[in-house]
Amino acid sequence: MTILDGKKVSNEILEDLKSKFASLNEKVCLAIIWVGNNEASEIYIKNKLKKCEELGIEGKLYHLEEDTTEEEVLELITKLNNDDEVKGILVQSPLPKHINEVNCFNQVSFKKDVDGFSNISAGNLTLGSPSLVSCTPKGIIALLDYYHLDLEGKNVCLINRSNIVGKPLFNLLIKRNATVTMCHSKTKNLEDFVRDADIVISAVGKPSFITDDILKDGAIVIDVGISRVNGKVVGDASKDIQKASYLTPVPGGVGPMTIAMIFSNLYEAITKYQDK
Ligand code: NAP
Repeated sequence: MTILDGKKVSNEILEDLKSKFASLNEKVCLAIIWVGNNEASEIYIKNKLKKCEELGIEGKLYHLEEDTTEEEVLELITKLNNDDEVKGILVQSPLPKHINEVNCFNQVSFKKDVDGFSNISAGNLTLGSPSLVSCTPKGIIALLDYYHLDLEGKNVCLINRSNIVGKPLFNLLIKRNATVTMCHSKTKNLEDFVRDADIVISAVGKPSFITDDILKDGAIVIDVGISRVNGKVVGDASKDIQKASYLTPVPGGVGPMTIAMIFSNLYEAITKYQDK
């Protein structure tokens, strides 16, 4: 079984991006909006800011009070949309309950939408038009490409239908001529779809959801799920899996690829969508 080493691949991608950002010869600023004090968000934001530093670009954090109104967040996004020095905008999820997250995502200009969550970015992806693409799906495709794992004609069982993972990933997979079955919590006999699949992509968030007894021999397993068991981060795939030909580890698989894709999108935003 080959381990799809997302950490190694993402490091190579980030190294390449570092020289690309340097060769732009302009100031690159990524704005991150964080409302409130969610603990998990704090860790993610620190990571993103650290990566900015490593890449020689500016990460600018806008940390707003928990009781900030939606209007105030929307106003800040508009201000950042109009600021030529700001090349990319991230709105850290989750936002406090009184703020409509979708409204905030949609307020981000598609030219700076490095998360790819806005309706314009998602719509363009669905229609096959150029767009910035949600980072986890984009990272999964980049990882498969790195290992030359062709998708054409493959049966893919995708277990997730969320806006940030399943839906954009479905579009990327069919663009590569895969045949995709999208499963979710209401799918009946899910095991049968998994057993039929050449590639299983699981983003459920339940430990040991994918086990050898439901896998086809030689299946490629992309494990997106993140859970904590006794304080340890684990994926959806059982640690005892042996039947897979390729497997992404958790941690060290899809996670680092997701982070790398934020910066890949930032570079793409500058060179494809903001080029004068
Ligand atoms: P989500 O919106 O909660 O999606 C979970 C999906 O799993 C839903 O489509 C849900 O179906 C489905 N599901 C839940 N229980 C199921 C069951 N028993 N059988 C079949 N399907 C089931 O979460 P998300 O934001 O997409 O994230 C999914 C997982 O990926 C989480 O563990 C998250 O932490 C992880 N994640 C990892 C990365 C990374 O970079 N590694 C990035 C994003 C997310 P319904 O639609 O019917 O509810």
